[in-house]
Amino acid sequence: AKSAGGNRFEHADAEADARAITRHGLTTSLPAALERGEFFIEYQPLVHLADGTVHGAEALVRWSHPTHGVLSPDRFIPLAEHTGLIVPLGRWVLEQSVLQARAWQEELAAGTFAGPVRINVNLSPAQLHHPGLVADTVEVLERIGLPPGSLCLEVTESALIGADEDLLKPLRQLAEMGVDIALDDFGTGYSNLANLRRLPVSVLKLDRSFTQGMQQHPADPVDLKIVEGIVSLAHGLELGVTVEGVETGAQAEHLRRLGCDTAQGWYYARPGPPEMLHTLSMADAV
Ligand code: C2E
Ligand code: CA
Ligand code: CA
Ligand code: CA
Repeated sequence: AKSAGGNRFEHADAEADARAITRHGLTTSLPAALERGEFFIEYQPLVHLADGTVHGAEALVRWSHPTHGVLSPDRFIPLAEHTGLIVPLGRWVLEQSVLQARAWQEELAAGTFAGPVRINVNLSPAQLHHPGLVADTVEVLERIGLPPGSLCLEVTESALIGADEDLLKPLRQLAEMGVDIALDDFGTGYSNLANLRRLPVSVLKLDRSFTQGMQQHPADPVDLKIVEGIVSLAHGLELGVTVEGVETGAQAEHLRRLGCDTAQGWYYARPGPPEMLHTLSMADAV
């Protein structure tokens, strides 16, 4: 038998090979996967921290791969970005999400759902650079009949660092129509805070790393101070604050006291099928 060390080395090596093969295999099968309908969307609720009622949901894409099983977006979104498939894939995610939000709103009108339901959709930098973004989004909203104010597009802070007016223009046009723009993973991109004023965003979505510091007892006092500062800055600029990665009631309580507006995380619900949001929302109502 070989030493444990040798085994570990060989194992790591084999794993790296497997990863490279997988990466190649996944890349070549991405376009076919879209045609075969192998992607699906899970929805994770966003709740109001003040009273726990449902505010909306974030659409999170998954790939039901015929041999690898369900793949998380971290496995294939970078590949889709690299190959350009992110544009048609992103358009598909937007359309499905808008259809779902519209269905929820119809249930709301029928009294079988306690909304209001808004939908958050992630946008990759490549989609931001694609000239059809505004026209595609308007077309989907109009055809399906969802008010622009019910849609929030999430763009990462890092995608907008150093963004010039050409890149911001489509976002500005969407914002003028009433679409909300959220700055995702906020606090990880080292952006110039003064820069926030010229971005057409209406929501800061605090990165999970901030909520993590509130999981320990007592909560990390520095994290508390930082979040307190971000909330006061955001509210001063009339921006909403959403927090993600809330896993415990203690975290939720800290974030509520610090004045954050909405929250998302396993404490409330894991991402799941659209019916899950329905159940959660009706539970609020009773
Ligand atoms: P993100 O936009 O920051 O999404 C939040 C991630 O945190 C999701 O991972 C979600 O499942 C996870 N999460 C939610 N609550 C908790 C919690 O309480 N604890 C922990 N540890 N994690 C939690 P997911 O679904 O694997 O998505 C990963 C990333 O993939 C997303 O990060 C987003 O950047 C990207 N992504 C997902 N769907 C899409 C899409 O349709 N288009 C694009 N362009 N990117 C997407
Ligand atoms: Ca997001
Ligand atoms: Ca995020
Ligand atoms: Ca993230």
